[in-house]
Amino acid sequence: MAAPLTASALPRALACPASCALPAVSSTSDEAERGTQVHAFMQAIADGTPVDEALAAVAEATRALCAKINLAHVPRGGETEVAMAWDVDARRARRLEVDGHRQYEPTATEIPGTADLVLWLDRPVVIDWKTTSHDFDARSAVPQLEHYALCVANIAWADEVECAVGVIADDGAVEWSRWRMDAAALDRAADRARRVWERVQSARAHQGEHDVTLGNHCRYCPSWRACPAHVRAVRQLAAGEVPAITAESIGAAYSVARAVEKSAEAVREGIKRFVSEHGPVKTGNQLVSLNKRGALSLRTL
Ligand code: SF4
Repeated sequence: MAAPLTASALPRALACPASCALPAVSSTSDEAERGTQVHAFMQAIADGTPVDEALAAVAEATRALCAKINLAHVPRGGETEVAMAWDVDARRARRLEVDGHRQYEPTATEIPGTADLVLWLDRPVVIDWKTTSHDFDARSAVPQLEHYALCVANIAWADEVECAVGVIADDGAVEWSRWRMDAAALDRAADRARRVWERVQSARAHQGEHDVTLGNHCRYCPSWRACPAHVRAVRQLAAGEVPAITAESIGAAYSVARAVEKSAEAVREGIKRFVSEHGPVKTGNQLVSLNKRGALSLRTL
């Protein structure tokens, strides 16, 4: 089944509509789990839960990071986990009922999404938390935030909405990117939503190999296993064809490296899950196990 077109998928769908047309597989990783835990912690803080209590509910592996987060500028008193959908035909938004796991039931012409936090002020504020990875670019979150802003403006009858992305670094520092959307910017966001939705519909109707290009947008793509460019990149490196590094090819070479890392990460996660469930595994004269920090270890006996 293809991945749904949601607010958080918008940046990727803008660059690659086929990512919402190819078969998708949901998966998790240490990084994704860390992001989920940090989001739950920030939600609890924004909901007014005492810090000690919020920390106690966080998985041990992420607790140290959460304890370091600078909470001085985390707004309180807003509404957390606000689920909404924008109808690209009717150019209208509505609130969505969810069961707590972000399971939406949008109509065929709606793009749903859940804002981490909304401050319903005269000029509403939509806030999203991001945890950093080495090459995370806050600008990639703009279409997602602007989609929430579009929904909020329509629901609250507001002419202006403020967007804020709080990027949480490994040392707990929170770096904010903020911008304001006026009526013209909100209109542009509605046009963009319509455009992306149409491109995704066209990709879904397409027969044969999809036209795709690897890039930063591939990072959280749930369709990467079925992506022809991804498969080509992995085969290329597996065959020992290391791309030449030139000024012209450096972007493509980096994308190939990222694609291969993604496949390798999926293999590692699968091995970790297996060893967690079955305990250390002896194969021939080698022992695969998890060390005290939960990292994989391969030892020759
Ligand atoms: S992995 Fe493939 S399908 Fe997914 S976003 Fe990248 S190019 Fe598109």
